[in-house]
Amino acid sequence: MKLKFKTAILLVLIALPFGSMAQKFNIDRVDPPLWWTSMKNSELQIMVYGENISFTKPIINYSGVKIKQVISVESPNYLFIDIEISPDAIAGEFIIEFFKGKKKVTEYNYKLESRNKTSDLYQGFDNSDIIYLLMPDRFANGNPDNDNMPGMLEQADRSNPNGRHGGDIQGIINNLDYIKDLGATSIWINPLLENNQPAYSYHGYAVTDLYKVDPRYGSNEEYRSLVKEAHRKGLKIIQDMIFNHLGTEYFWKEDLPTQDWYNQWPEFTRSNYRGGAVNDPYASNYDFNKMVGGWFDHSMADLNQKNELLANYLIQNSIWWIEYLGLDGIRQDTYPYPDKDFMAEWMRRVLEEYPDYNVVGEVWLSHPQAVAYWLENDMNADGYHSNLTNVFDFPLMYAISKAFNENEGWSTGNAQLYEVLSQDFVYSDPSKLVVFADNHDGDRLYSKLGEDMNKLKLAMAFMFTTRGTPQIYYGTEILMTGLEHQGHGFIREDFPGGWENDTIDAFTRQGRTAEQNEAFDFIKRILDYRKNSDALINGKLVHYIPEDGLYVYFRYTDNECVMVILNNTDEEKVLNMDRFSENIGNYSSGRSVLNRKSWETLNTITISAKSPLIIELK
Ligand code: CA
Repeated sequence: MKLKFKTAILLVLIALPFGSMAQKFNIDRVDPPLWWTSMKNSELQIMVYGENISFTKPIINYSGVKIKQVISVESPNYLFIDIEISPDAIAGEFIIEFFKGKKKVTEYNYKLESRNKTSDLYQGFDNSDIIYLLMPDRFANGNPDNDNMPGMLEQADRSNPNGRHGGDIQGIINNLDYIKDLGATSIWINPLLENNQPAYSYHGYAVTDLYKVDPRYGSNEEYRSLVKEAHRKGLKIIQDMIFNHLGTEYFWKEDLPTQDWYNQWPEFTRSNYRGGAVNDPYASNYDFNKMVGGWFDHSMADLNQKNELLANYLIQNSIWWIEYLGLDGIRQDTYPYPDKDFMAEWMRRVLEEYPDYNVVGEVWLSHPQAVAYWLENDMNADGYHSNLTNVFDFPLMYAISKAFNENEGWSTGNAQLYEVLSQDFVYSDPSKLVVFADNHDGDRLYSKLGEDMNKLKLAMAFMFTTRGTPQIYYGTEILMTGLEHQGHGFIREDFPGGWENDTIDAFTRQGRTAEQNEAFDFIKRILDYRKNSDALINGKLVHYIPEDGLYVYFRYTDNECVMVILNNTDEEKVLNMDRFSENIGNYSSGRSVLNRKSWETLNTITISAKSPLIIELK
């Protein structure tokens, strides 16, 4: 009896591993976690991840939902299920049953939600908008309880410039009125998705879960509340997305679906960051491959978007966030780095679902023609159509950074601005450019301008009155400083007043210094005017070659005209208006947008040293 029992146990122990090898099935993850009925594109590709799942056959019995194709890949732990959701499918939960032979081995409840007109909530952005860029870890800490969260590899350390400081979604919600009061209409938030990397995770550009807000920022639900609250206050939200790379800690790190999921190299190979190599007609394959296939950094795995399953995974993810949030726009990181045909297909799919959507691409190149290649146009010699709706104006950013520090000359000072704008013929539509003077990746504007208030005012006056959609970087309005060579942490410092024990609260007028209020009020005054100025939003631009240190331009419609004069010299100037008669036309007087000054006649205008004038003509 005793012997028999022992033998039985032994047999079981021997049999178990063999039995379990074939029979153990589970599901760890399903992406996208839910989807919607009545999407324009009726197809959905569901990625199922779990041990041995590729050895099963999925079955769905749900009216209006049918499996079109099941794809297994190199790793046995993935199944890609292509389903078709017919227009008459009703929202609800359907069960995906997984069979091994005739035996059901596991199942998954998949949620199909009705669109609830979420898609009607997105607004896109245009020239009537002012985009306020903020870094969520560094803006405001609305919930100290989430600074450290279980399972997260990096702990908060506010004393470390490159550490996590605790800012979060609640901090943004708490300060929406501040942003609105400044005059911004849209908020571009650096990435909010999970970055569970061991270090330098605060910037957000090494995403480790494309479907989950980092718990140190809050939850998906809180993100949705932020969008709802912003919409209620008349503000829009622009999400930062990155299709070039993901954090090396992404869940599939040890178990890639296919080996070509990432661009693989024998040893770590960095991108050469030469975005121009993508459209350079003389580029060597060596340089091109390194540009597109090299890794952005050690912690950022470079994605191979030529893999159609991965491409679909990324495209569906962006649509998921638009639909889930009623998201107003997207800022796409490192635009020339992913496969460019994939990027065009992504834009096509987004615009198919949301026809008047806006995506602004980060094309960090210094020549207008290099940037113009990426903004949708019919002019590319190689026939490339990006479908991209908006692009950042990096060439103008460089010009703004130099112009007001230089003496006036043939190609210096104001001529920097004039020269860049005169190249606008390369763009299919220059109004689609997003104009900015700094962002989270470079020297802060006030530092670039030598912490000179007059220069800052010139730069702000220009940015808000030239063509395009202006974007400002959080803290410029309170004269925050920082140079990149000090380290990225120094150009992304905490907004004073965002943390409970901050001794200074720059979110309030009383908490700001006189100089900070001067800058804040100056920006606010122009933005408040701009909001209601058809000329500044939609008007045509005519500019005059800088002369005598003065740059003069007009923004006008049939009924309105705004004249801008930038005096980039250290002397007061008297401007004779004869030269501008083609724009002055029948206007005979004017009033200053910046103060109470007005002009009864328009014969000459006196302008103080190193300052702007913005004049509404009457
Ligand atoms: Ca927090």
